[in-house]
Amino acid sequence: MSKPALKTIIGLEVHVQLNTKSKMFCSCPNVFGDIAPNTAICPICLGYPGTLPLPNEASIISIQRVGAALNCQLATHSKFDRKHYFYPDLPKGYQISQYDQPFCGPGKVPIIVDGQRRSIGITRAHLEEDAAKNTHPAGANYTLVDYNRAGTPLVEIVTEPDLRSPAEAKIFLQELRRIMKTLRVSTADMSKGQLRCDANISLREPGSDQLNPKTEIKNLNSFRHVERALQYEIIRLTKLFQQDKLPRRETTRGFNADTGLTTEQRGKEGAADYRYFPEPDIPPFVFTLEEINARVGSLPELPHAQRQRLISQYAISEQSARLFIDHQELSSFFESTVSELQQLDNDRLNIDPKDLPFLSVTASHIILRQLRDLLIKHQLAPAKLNITPANFAELVVIVYLKQLNQNNLPDVLTAMQSTGGDPDHIIKDLGLSPVSDQDDLIQAVDQVMSAHPDVVAKIKSGKTSATQFLIGQVMARLRGRANPEKILDIIKNKIDNNSK
Ligand code: ZN
Ligand code: MN
Repeated sequence: MSKPALKTIIGLEVHVQLNTKSKMFCSCPNVFGDIAPNTAICPICLGYPGTLPLPNEASIISIQRVGAALNCQLATHSKFDRKHYFYPDLPKGYQISQYDQPFCGPGKVPIIVDGQRRSIGITRAHLEEDAAKNTHPAGANYTLVDYNRAGTPLVEIVTEPDLRSPAEAKIFLQELRRIMKTLRVSTADMSKGQLRCDANISLREPGSDQLNPKTEIKNLNSFRHVERALQYEIIRLTKLFQQDKLPRRETTRGFNADTGLTTEQRGKEGAADYRYFPEPDIPPFVFTLEEINARVGSLPELPHAQRQRLISQYAISEQSARLFIDHQELSSFFESTVSELQQLDNDRLNIDPKDLPFLSVTASHIILRQLRDLLIKHQLAPAKLNITPANFAELVVIVYLKQLNQNNLPDVLTAMQSTGGDPDHIIKDLGLSPVSDQDDLIQAVDQVMSAHPDVVAKIKSGKTSATQFLIGQVMARLRGRANPEKILDIIKNKIDNNSK
């Protein structure tokens, strides 16, 4: 008999490199990856005996701001601890980290999954130093070590086992990255190792609240890898479960992006293996609540709040809001455009205030499709945009009133970008003004119908779908400068009259 489906339980441990000027416990510049290996080092980050660590104040403020953004309880009492392990990337033989008194306690992060709001618990966030970077050149019998990375300030964020699918884990991680970028505490580039993720997964039998020993997948360095590695683990663990062979102890596995498989690396260390004890060279920290508030200061609008606001304020779609969150300059351009739309000379452009929500939605679509395409095509940074929100707002109204065919938008936007001019003149100059004269439209329809008598015959015999072909031909002849609904009316008229 086959066993019932299992529930997926996922928790993440995420490391984020802070972008402070100097390292965590010394005054070396924090520039790993930007300069030649082993040139930003000193006796402290090389772990020489007799050196003393001096905590970087900016990194402590950063983690407190991170904690506030993750809705964490910020600790009034905190300290650093030594975490021991032996590896060439760790010259002291221990990492200065935090054990039982992290700077940030429990918190939660709201995310949207399939349109549903989910709240992901944060267990804690602590501050530590990064290790050096080991490189194993292919085929070589040696390892290269770059100590520039040793001592880089690192925030470790641990989630509760609240994530229920690989897709949800990816969405959460993407949201975490947005938060770090919004706070400007990290560049959070996963491909550069500035944001790294270990994923814990276990499967649970339905109706049970027992957690089976988890598998930890180490060092996932892209959103896609996180999702793929977890998808593979679900398949692997489900098979083991059906054979009654679920792992009885915690294990650590690595993910191979080429094969899509995970392989066992070692049994997972427990806290006791690390011989944690308080760092004797750094006194504990004590903050009053007032001090914490002053250190955190005011936070910028966070992605989730911005997403909700854009949707409720402008009636744009969830998908558009999501794109704006990831393209902040376009989001500002959108909000400036809407404010221009509200101030447009309503008489000339004939807009009813009731149309404003529809105009906002039209603006969001043009910005996220055609304007974004233009920026990508010309490899333009949004800051180099030559189109003013005022001119763009006029274009939005013109499109909304169907005085310009959407197919001609790229040409108009290109001309607006190169001249910085207003759309009215550009549309006239490009000869894209709509053909509004009924006789001109009828003439174009006549020409197309006599050029395609076979299609006309088909329509008359009941194959009305062929009408689309005729409309397309007329639009092509008029270079899109007509309203397809009007053309359809004319064609219908002609066919009806002819058949009588
Ligand atoms: Zn140093
Ligand atoms: Mn860590």
